[in-house]
Amino acid sequence: MLRTHTCGELNKEYKDKEVVLCGWVHRRRDHGKLIFIDIRDRYGLTQIVFVPSVSKEAHDEAQKLGPEFVVKVTGTVNVRPEKNVNPDLSTGDMEVCATGLEILNSSEVPVFEVDDTADVSEELRLTYRYLDLRREKLLNSLKLRHKLCAVIHSFLDKQEFLEIETPVLTKSTPEGARDFLVPSRLNPGEFFALPQSPQLFKQILMVSGLDKYYQIVKCFRDEDLRADRQPEFTQLDMEMSFAEEEDVFDVTERMFKIIFKELKGIDIKTPFARITHKEAMDKYKSDKPDLRKEQGEDFAFVWVVDFPLFKYNKDEKKWDSEHHPFTSFREEDSGLLEGKDLDKIRSRSYDLVLNGNEIGSGSVRIHKQDVQQKIFDIIGFDQEEAQKRFGFLLKAFQYGAPPHAGVAYGIDRLVAIMAGLDSIRDTIAFPKTQKGNCLLTDAPAEIDAKQLKDLGL
Ligand code: ASP
Repeated sequence: MLRTHTCGELNKEYKDKEVVLCGWVHRRRDHGKLIFIDIRDRYGLTQIVFVPSVSKEAHDEAQKLGPEFVVKVTGTVNVRPEKNVNPDLSTGDMEVCATGLEILNSSEVPVFEVDDTADVSEELRLTYRYLDLRREKLLNSLKLRHKLCAVIHSFLDKQEFLEIETPVLTKSTPEGARDFLVPSRLNPGEFFALPQSPQLFKQILMVSGLDKYYQIVKCFRDEDLRADRQPEFTQLDMEMSFAEEEDVFDVTERMFKIIFKELKGIDIKTPFARITHKEAMDKYKSDKPDLRKEQGEDFAFVWVVDFPLFKYNKDEKKWDSEHHPFTSFREEDSGLLEGKDLDKIRSRSYDLVLNGNEIGSGSVRIHKQDVQQKIFDIIGFDQEEAQKRFGFLLKAFQYGAPPHAGVAYGIDRLVAIMAGLDSIRDTIAFPKTQKGNCLLTDAPAEIDAKQLKDLGL
C-alpha cells in the first residue's frame, strides 16, 4: 500500500509514529528554512513540515511543489506546541515532520483555487468538475448523498422491500414531459424512449407478486429550460401491493424519521401534517405550501392530498391527468366520470412537500383494466392508441393485478435541502447546465455520418 494513514486521521495520540501519507498539495508556505505544506485528501488536511536538518533531500524536493501536485510524504508525527494548534482541523494538534518526499504527479496551475471561499463561475466549475469536486462543499454534499442512500437501502431492506432494476431502453411513460429517444440500429426507423420514471414496470412488478419494490433510479425528462431542473435526475421509486394512502404515508414517515435522525441528528415530528389541495390553494395559493412559519421547526413536512384527477388543457381543448393516468380516484366521485364536471373528481394522489418544495409524489393506482381504459378514453387515448402505447399494462391487468400504491422521492432535491444548498447541481457529481449540456465532456455532440447511416437516419 502506498500510504499508512489518510490526511484526516492523525492526531497527537500518534506522537512519534512513522507514517506515510498521500495527497494533494493544498497550500505551501516557505518560512526561510522551514517549508510547510498542507496535504489534502478526501478525509482531511495534514500539515507537513520540511526541515533541512531532518532531510535535506526532502526539503529540496519540497521547493519544487506547486498547488495540487500529488505527493507521498514519509515522516514522523510531532505534537504541535499549544500556540500552533489549529482547533478547526481534526489533525490540528499535530504535524508530520518529513523524512522523505516523492512527487507522484505534478499539476498544471489550477484554473481556480480548490477552496470553498473562492468565487468561481459555475461554467468554469462544471468544465473543470474534477477540480470542483475536490472542494469541501461538494465533497460534503456527495458524502451526504451517499449516506442518505445507504440509510434508505438499509431501512427498506428491513421493511422487506426488494430493490429491482428496470430497463433504461424502453417505451414512453407519460409523466408529462417530452421523451429522450434512442434510435434502434437493429430495428431501423424504431426508437426506444428513456424512462421518465419506472412507473409501468413497478406496477407490473406488483402484478408479478413482488409485493414491495424500490429502486434508486435515474429518470429522464426532456423538459424546457427551467431553473434547477436536470434532464436526468434520481428518484427513490417505490411501490407496494395491497396498500393504500396510509401504508405509503406510514413507511415514508418512518423512513424520513430515521434519515433525519441519522444524517442531521434531528427528531422530526410524525405523523406529518396533511392538507387538501383545495385548502392549500385557498390558504397558501400554492400546492407546495411552506409550513415552517406554522410548524416552527427547520424542516416542515406536509402531505398534500385530494388533488384533482384531471386538469383541462386549454391549448389542446382536452383533459389531461393531473398526476399520471395510472392514478386512482375517490370512489365517491366515480359518478362524475360520466359527466362534464371532470375537474371535481378527486384523485388518490399525494405529494410530500418539505419547506415549500415538492420532494415526492405518488398515488393509489388503478388496478382494473376497464377503469384504466376509461381514464385513457377521457384523456384522449382511444382503445387503439391505448393498446399501442400501454397494451402490455392493460394485458397484465387481466392476469390478477392486486390493488397497489406507490410513490417516488427526488433524491437530488432532498440532498440539496438537507445540505442547505441552493442548487441541485451541487448534489450531482456530473450535472448538466441549465441548457442541458455537460461542460466536462462537451455532450451532446455531433456524431459522424457513418453512425447516422448505421442507424438508418
Ligand atoms: N412515477 C411518478 C413520478 O415519477 C411517481 C409515482 O406515482 O410513483 O412522479
